[in-house]
Amino acid sequence: MSHPHRPGEPTCRQVFELLSEFVDGELAQPEHESLSRHLEACPPCEEFLKTFQVARALCRESLLQKMPDELKDRLRCFLRDQIKKI
Ligand SMILES: [Zn+2]
Repeated sequence: MSHPHRPGEPTCRQVFELLSEFVDGELAQPEHESLSRHLEACPPCEEFLKTFQVARALCRESLLQKMPDELKDRLRCFLRDQIKKI
């Protein structure tokens, strides 16, 4: 990681793990807020959030109500591979 994280703040890895729940608004308020703070301060995570939101929007346009689990898993694997390169 190229930037420090304060104790109690989520790491990039945790942000990726929780990204779909975050986007779907399924996180508890404190978790949601700490992820928001991380995303604002961490450009790579912000990029991944955008990628995730675009993928979800495409699913919406295809008249799918929710992102299929398979796609969600694939996206998660993709993001996990990406974070190894940071
Ligand atoms: Zn991050």
